[in-house]
Amino acid sequence: MDNVQDKSLPRTYNGITYTLDEPRFKGLSKNAIKRLLKDQLWELQREARTKKQRAKSKQKSQEKRQLIEQGVLPPPPKRTKTSDMVLGNRKIVFDCSFSSYMTRKEIDSMQAQLVRCYSANRLAKEAMHMTISGYDEPLKEVFEKKTNSYNNWLNVDFDTEPYENRFDKEKLVYLSADSDNVVDELEEDKIYIIGGIVDKNRHKGLCQNKATNQGIATAQLPIGQYLQLASRKVLTVNQVYEIMLKWVEHKDWEKAFLDIIPQRKLKDSKLLNNQETSEVNKDETEDTVDQNQHSNQEDTNPTPDQDNLEKDETKLTPVENQQDMEKKDCPVDNIVV
Ligand code: SAH
Repeated sequence: MDNVQDKSLPRTYNGITYTLDEPRFKGLSKNAIKRLLKDQLWELQREARTKKQRAKSKQKSQEKRQLIEQGVLPPPPKRTKTSDMVLGNRKIVFDCSFSSYMTRKEIDSMQAQLVRCYSANRLAKEAMHMTISGYDEPLKEVFEKKTNSYNNWLNVDFDTEPYENRFDKEKLVYLSADSDNVVDELEEDKIYIIGGIVDKNRHKGLCQNKATNQGIATAQLPIGQYLQLASRKVLTVNQVYEIMLKWVEHKDWEKAFLDIIPQRKLKDSKLLNNQETSEVNKDETEDTVDQNQHSNQEDTNPTPDQDNLEKDETKLTPVENQQDMEKKDCPVDNIVV
């Protein structure tokens, strides 16, 4: 009796009024209801967040432009035009069939990581062809809302079909930190799959098990041969993609890892060169981090830093204004779409 009455009582959560008998809460645990409300709040605050971030970016670029005009800062390097993108033979598939495993915020984050992959691809010495497989409505919605220039992306297929309907199984290699196999080289005749999921490690082994059940080969990146990481070897989608781009450019895994893996993940890690173990040189990695800031801001998947990213994520929203910014030859946070 008590319960029934309680459920119809209006309650508030950070300014949202709700009652527990709303159909959307049916059968949900207390925590799940809280998560829904948190997501709703995040959505409600989106416009204000975007506005604030845009104003901040605008001010920052104005200040930067002034410093360039005054000769304090050097002029920025000429931007690569999308049409100058150099496409190699390698093909990468992003398995985006995991929307049902993610919260709304995580889908946002996933989309932001895909934007970063495309941005890195554009700037890479040798770009790889990208297929966004299992491209579903929730992900499409975020693209439409946040990055509608995606319609003009070059060398990217947005495919609503799952990859297993499109590619020869024999050629596929699903990348997974949980695999017992280790990648040696990225072979041109293989098609590598990256699991398109942001899950803060809730779903351990998800991609590895999926691939194994489908009879698809799996492999992890050879991080363990070069680095003894202080934390888990699970990286984010864009980090994995950017490491692959770096390897394609330099054919050097150590360089690729040190350039792309974020400083905070390298902290307290050891470099395993020539069988000798040494602390990762802090200064060295800090330099590389600076050069690759955009790679390193997105350490989202495996660690509690996820929350930082979500707060930080508005950093990505200026991509909507990218075309305007491009006209002024003014890069936005290194994101190029
Ligand atoms: N729980 C998820 C983790 C996703 S991390 C899972 O079951 O895999 C996002 C994707 O990045 C992974 O699916 C994988 O394709 C890739 N990835 C992350 N770390 C990797 C590593 N060390 N080696 C190979 N691929 C990795």
